[in-house]
Amino acid sequence: PDPPGPLPIRRLQECVINRIAAGEIIHRPASALKELIENSLDAGATSLRITIKDGGMKLLQIQDNGCGIRKDDLPILAERFTTSKLSAFSDLSRLTTYGFRGEALASISYVAHLTVITKTKSDTHAWKATYADGALVPSKPGTTADPKACAGNEGTTISVENLFYNTPTRLAALRSSSEEYARILDVVSKYAVHNPHVSFTCKKVGSPAPDISTPSSSTVKQAIRLLYGQTIAKDLLHTKISSTTRGSPAHDSAGSDVEEEAGSWMAEAHFTSAHYQAKKMVLLLFINHRLVESSRMKRALEAVYTGILPKGALPFIYLSLQIDPRSVDVNVHPTKREVHFLNEEAIIERISDAVQTALVGQNQSRAFEYQA
Ligand code: ADP
Ligand code: MG
Repeated sequence: PDPPGPLPIRRLQECVINRIAAGEIIHRPASALKELIENSLDAGATSLRITIKDGGMKLLQIQDNGCGIRKDDLPILAERFTTSKLSAFSDLSRLTTYGFRGEALASISYVAHLTVITKTKSDTHAWKATYADGALVPSKPGTTADPKACAGNEGTTISVENLFYNTPTRLAALRSSSEEYARILDVVSKYAVHNPHVSFTCKKVGSPAPDISTPSSSTVKQAIRLLYGQTIAKDLLHTKISSTTRGSPAHDSAGSDVEEEAGSWMAEAHFTSAHYQAKKMVLLLFINHRLVESSRMKRALEAVYTGILPKGALPFIYLSLQIDPRSVDVNVHPTKREVHFLNEEAIIERISDAVQTALVGQNQSRAFEYQA
């Protein structure tokens, strides 16, 4: 028989395209939660209450006491590329070139049932809105899609239900609820350390006590003690590094000269001394207040400890780095947690040196103590 002729090429439906794209941004409950935490912090919240059911696959809920969302903005809230943070583009300290650019809530609405309850200071009551595929939908059959008046505190509660109900391959790629929950606790702990002035709680639905509960107005060190244990906290060293020195003139991706302050950066680190030894390295790395990964940074810090700790022993490190957002590599896709930035090598070297100096200094002062 004749070979079959070519099949017609068809355009994918837009909602199918968006669903695939969203699945690439939101990998698992913990990655959705990370976005929601960042939104709450961006909204100025000082209290974040997180409730989880079935590892976040059934329910992921975050209640904050931030500024809330204006009722008039609710219709476009979950559309792609809608953001209130654009005006902040001139505000360099807040600008994040590898952020989600108004894509987080949209993405979530394509792969889960999204409900938002929100109240601003000037609202007399809260509003409730339900979303699917980027748009408002009725919360119950027979009702309209319009936001409904309801009771609620100032701030925003976002509920994400039945994650990946419409993308079975994503759902199948998830681990057990307990493993997904462990990843959630990991993300919450890290943000709680980085934001010690914010109170975080995280609990399972129906569980009497939260698994994480931090006070507001704490310090990084206290938060580390509470979340990672006294063994780590008692052996912590601390260093601050900043640099305004510049090497050769930097260029941005468009090839134009980056302005004067483009090379400046600062870092703050809390890291365990030579007295602490773990089997696994724990690295909490925040760049411009976003939790990220940098395998180069990790390897460099690991190497510092390799020269100091016995073989196979590894440290705990919390590192917060602030760099000019214009020097974060925009070519790295926003959904990748692995980041690159200008002068990466030089910055990593300066930080490693500072950590090394502190570790060695600590050893010397101990040696000195012993002599005395
Ligand atoms: P982005 O954070 O990049 O702006 P998102 O999709 O995460 O994009 O959020 C879209 C917009 O929704 C935000 O710019 C903000 O105005 C609003 N928003 C989201 N979450 C909250 C929240 N918890 N409190 C107040 N506003 C929020
Ligand atoms: Mg966001």
